[in-house]
Amino acid sequence: MTIDLSDHPLVQHHLTILRDINTQAPAFRQGCSGMTQILVAEAAKLLEVDVLAVQTPMEETEGYRIAGSVVFVPILRAGLGMLDDAMATIPNSSVGYIGLERDESTAVASCYYAKMPELDASSQVFVLDPMLATGGSAVQCVDQLKQCGARKILMICIIAAPEGIECLQAAHPDVTIITGKIDRQLNAQKYIMPGLGDFGDRLFNT
Ligand code: URA
Repeated sequence: MTIDLSDHPLVQHHLTILRDINTQAPAFRQGCSGMTQILVAEAAKLLEVDVLAVQTPMEETEGYRIAGSVVFVPILRAGLGMLDDAMATIPNSSVGYIGLERDESTAVASCYYAKMPELDASSQVFVLDPMLATGGSAVQCVDQLKQCGARKILMICIIAAPEGIECLQAAHPDVTIITGKIDRQLNAQKYIMPGLGDFGDRLFNT
């Protein structure tokens, strides 16, 4: 399943700031933050909850609590830009990290770091990666999460390319993708078009 939020006015607003070549790092970070808050809130609609009784000062009524643990897994390095807002949205969450670096000539990603909290079939895992381009990193990340025992996995990205969606859904059809926008295509260098350039470079001002 792919959820595309491109008709949300705030998503369009933040995305336009992120796309603009004239946007400098401070405004880029604000745009990333605004987008992440919306995307995580949208992803959270799919969280499973337990029903419980809650006592108000007036009487007892029905309440809800998120079931199992929520784990955010940013793909380093660009995914780090989404982490603070994700944690602020669901404060009682854990964080795992995966470092995947793509070879600029082949666009193939290799893993240089992975550190996960305890994961099992009840963990609700949100992978954070702003740009779903070829889908290679996302597939590798989900492979590792499943090896660690995770089964409920969602992918949150700011922009997705059709090629990346197809690749991730072919390898992991059970993973829902939540994105601010599905762009047109990848170019020969595997950058998303029209995209926004290199997300990590713009976020970290490198
Ligand atoms: N990563 C980026 O930062 N930008 C792209 O367009 C594709 C992958």
